[in-house]
Amino acid sequence: MFTRTPAELQILISNVDQALYNHDRWNETLITTLMCHLPYDEHDIHEESFRRCRFGQWLYSEGQRLLGDHASYSAIEGEHRRMHQLATRLLLATADGTPIKVQDYELFTSAVKTLRLEATTLKRELEDMLSHIDPLTGANSRTLLLTVLREQHSLVKRRVMTCSLAMMDLDHFKTVNDTYGHQAGDRILITCAQYLMQHLRPYDKVFRYGGEEFVLVLPSLTPDVALNVVSHLREGLAKLPIQYNEMLIGATASFGVAPLDADCSVEQSLDNADQALYAAKAAGRNRAHLWNSPAASPVP
Ligand code: GH3
Ligand code: MG
Ligand code: MG
Repeated sequence: MFTRTPAELQILISNVDQALYNHDRWNETLITTLMCHLPYDEHDIHEESFRRCRFGQWLYSEGQRLLGDHASYSAIEGEHRRMHQLATRLLLATADGTPIKVQDYELFTSAVKTLRLEATTLKRELEDMLSHIDPLTGANSRTLLLTVLREQHSLVKRRVMTCSLAMMDLDHFKTVNDTYGHQAGDRILITCAQYLMQHLRPYDKVFRYGGEEFVLVLPSLTPDVALNVVSHLREGLAKLPIQYNEMLIGATASFGVAPLDADCSVEQSLDNADQALYAAKAAGRNRAHLWNSPAASPVP
């Protein structure tokens, strides 16, 4: 899955913006060269011209590092390469005094349009991703939670798979803020969220639900297995040394686990995880509890 920090997404968006601007300028210069029969730029007829333009230089260095695993990278790379090869053909024909074939010109303009469309679509997609990321922690923001839960719920209802939810809340966080200051509190929030994201599977999702509360969506896990996973996370968080200025601060969290239930609303399942969290807090904190379905409780 393609995931990036908000800062990386911001860099990517401005890079794609800059690339679009540069390419429009390059295209204008190329059209002027063709129309007015001006001498061409040697870079534009080089066999690797697609690496030499400003966009190409970015695409094969920083662009590849930041975007190489995005689905659109190879499409953009291929279209950009093709567009340059077509441009070379037009420039060489003009330099020879040969009239440009209508078909060649149309292929070139269509490649320019396709590349622009792909880059614009990518930019919108990155902006969309950024709008759904919590800027402090890099976790998903709450705006997407219900959409993701409804998608999972429809799979659970069709018995395609199971899914579990975990609600996590940092313990005594008000005291942490009061003792070490709000910025130290922020550092703890960031470190804990990053820890969760790094230690879950790529298709699990972490949402910042409120101030120091997070929701984990764990597809294909039964509640028992989810409790096991979450217990490991809880232990890991409790051992995690969090550096703030010269201090090492520790933090613990409590978790409540519940299934995403096919037979009730997603809101009810969230509420069930919240009840389990409440039980974990009441039992002393720094623990993970499984929601106890009233239907499963023994009848007295
Ligand atoms: P409990 O163990 O019962 O959860 O106790 P708690 O102190 O964590 O719970 P409470 O709800 O009383 O306090 C939550 C605190 O989280 C209060 C608020 O200042 C802090 N908080 C919420 N959002 C942020 C944030 O973005 N940054 C920081 N530093 N603190 C935050
Ligand atoms: Mg708390
Ligand atoms: Mg709370």
